[in-house]
Amino acid sequence: MSGYGNYNKQTGGRRRPNQVKSKSNSDNSSGGMYSGYGRSARSNYSSNSGSRSRGYSGGRSRGPKKQGRGQYIDPAKFVREATPVKQEDYTPAHTFNDFKVADVLKLNLASNGYEIPSPVQDQTIPLGLEGKDIIGIANTGTGKTVAFGLPVLNKLMTDRSAKALIIAPTRELAQQIDDEFRKVAKGSGLAAAILIGGTPMGPQLRSLRGNPQIVIGTPGRVKDHITRGSFRAKNFNIIVLDEVDRMLDMGFVDDVTAILGELAEERQSFFFSATMEPRIQSLIQTFAKDPVTVSVKTGDTSDNVHQNVVEYRGRTEKIDKLHDLLIQDSVEKTIIFHDTQRAVEELARELHSRGFKSDAIHGAKTQVQRQRALNKFKKSEINILVATDVAARGIDVKDITHVVNYTVPQTYADYTHRIGRAGRAGKTGYALTFVEVGY
Ligand code: AMP
Repeated sequence: MSGYGNYNKQTGGRRRPNQVKSKSNSDNSSGGMYSGYGRSARSNYSSNSGSRSRGYSGGRSRGPKKQGRGQYIDPAKFVREATPVKQEDYTPAHTFNDFKVADVLKLNLASNGYEIPSPVQDQTIPLGLEGKDIIGIANTGTGKTVAFGLPVLNKLMTDRSAKALIIAPTRELAQQIDDEFRKVAKGSGLAAAILIGGTPMGPQLRSLRGNPQIVIGTPGRVKDHITRGSFRAKNFNIIVLDEVDRMLDMGFVDDVTAILGELAEERQSFFFSATMEPRIQSLIQTFAKDPVTVSVKTGDTSDNVHQNVVEYRGRTEKIDKLHDLLIQDSVEKTIIFHDTQRAVEELARELHSRGFKSDAIHGAKTQVQRQRALNKFKKSEINILVATDVAARGIDVKDITHVVNYTVPQTYADYTHRIGRAGRAGKTGYALTFVEVGY
C-alpha cells in the first residue's frame, strides 16, 4: 500500500501553506432571514467524544500497528476507488413547479438555485403533500431536508392549526435543518423554536411562549421541555424524525419514544434513516400509519469517495506527512478526525502555528464556539476543521474535498460516517486514513 498522491516524495524543509483558497459559498445561510421566524438559543446534551482512547501508541513492530481500543479494522478496508453514481442516472418525474405548493416556497427554492428535485425530493414530496406517512431511506446530503421540508412548510402555511416537530440527533443537524427551512420559508410568516443543547433555557422558553408552528430540536432537550411543561406537544400533528439510525445509536430511543407518545393522535409522520434495521422498523411500526417507503440508498455517499491510506513511521513523520498533504493544490477544504478532544485541540494549534487556516470542533466547546468554527469553515475563512466523531456528526458542508482520518476510527461504522462528509452533492471526494507501520 502506498500513500495517497505524491506528497510522500517530498523530503526536507516543509513549504508553508498558501493562503486559503477563497471560494464564495452558498452554504452560509446564517444571515437574518424570513420575517416572523423567531430563533431561540441552543441547549445541550453533552457529547462524549472526549472519553475515547487514543488510537494507537506504544512500541514499534513490523506491519500495521495495533489500533487501540475498539474494533480492529483491516487497513485494506480504507483503500477503495470511487465509483461515483452519476446524477444523470436519475431522471426526476417532477419539476419543483409541478408541486402544488405556495408560490413563495417555489420562489425561494428557485432563488437558492434549487432547480431540479433530487431523487429523494422527487419521490417524497408528492406523497408528503398527499398527507401520507413516509419512511425515507436516504443519507445526509441527498436533499432530504427539502424532501420533508416542502410538504411540511406548505401544510403549515395552508392550515394555521397545524404544527410540526422535527427531531434530529445532533445540535448541528438541528441547526442545519433550521438554516434550510429559513431559506425555503423566507417570507412565509412561519415561526420556529430551536430546542437544542449548549445554551440557557431562557431564550428557548421565550420562543416557545410565542406559540411557534415549527419546533426543531434534539431528543434530550425536547423531552426536558415536555417534562417541565414548557412545550405542549399534543397539538403537534406533524412529526419528522431525521437520522433515526443515529438517534438510536446515540441512545435516544427512550426519549424519542416518550416524545412520540405525547403528540397529537391524528398526525403525519416522516421518518428518515440511512439504514433500516429491525430496531428502527419496530419503532416506526409502532408510530406510523400505513407508511410508504421511499428508498434512494443506491447512491451511497461513500461510493463518491476515493479512499486510501497514508503510511507513517512515528509522530514526526506523521505530522510532516499531514503537512505535505494539506499543501497540495487539490486539497481545498478538509476535515481532519482525531480521537480525543485534547488531541483535536493540540493538532488544530499545531496546524495553526504552521500557517494553516484551521479551527477545532469537539464536545467540550460551547455551542457558540462550535457554530462559529463551522461558519468560518462553510464560508471558507478557514479550510481545515479538526474534529472528534461526535462533534462532526451531521455536518453538511458541500465543498469538503478531503476527509483525513488522522487517527483510525473506533468502528467501521464511524469510518463510514466520517468519509460521508466528503463526496457530497454528486462530487468526488477523498478519504485518507493514517496508518502507522513498523520500521
Ligand atoms: P440535505 O440532504 O437535506 O442535508 O441536503 C444536502 C445539500 O443539498 C444541502 O446543502 C442543500 O442545500 C442542497 N440541496 C438540497 N436539495 C437541492 C436541490 N434540489 N438542488 C440543489 N441543491 C439542493
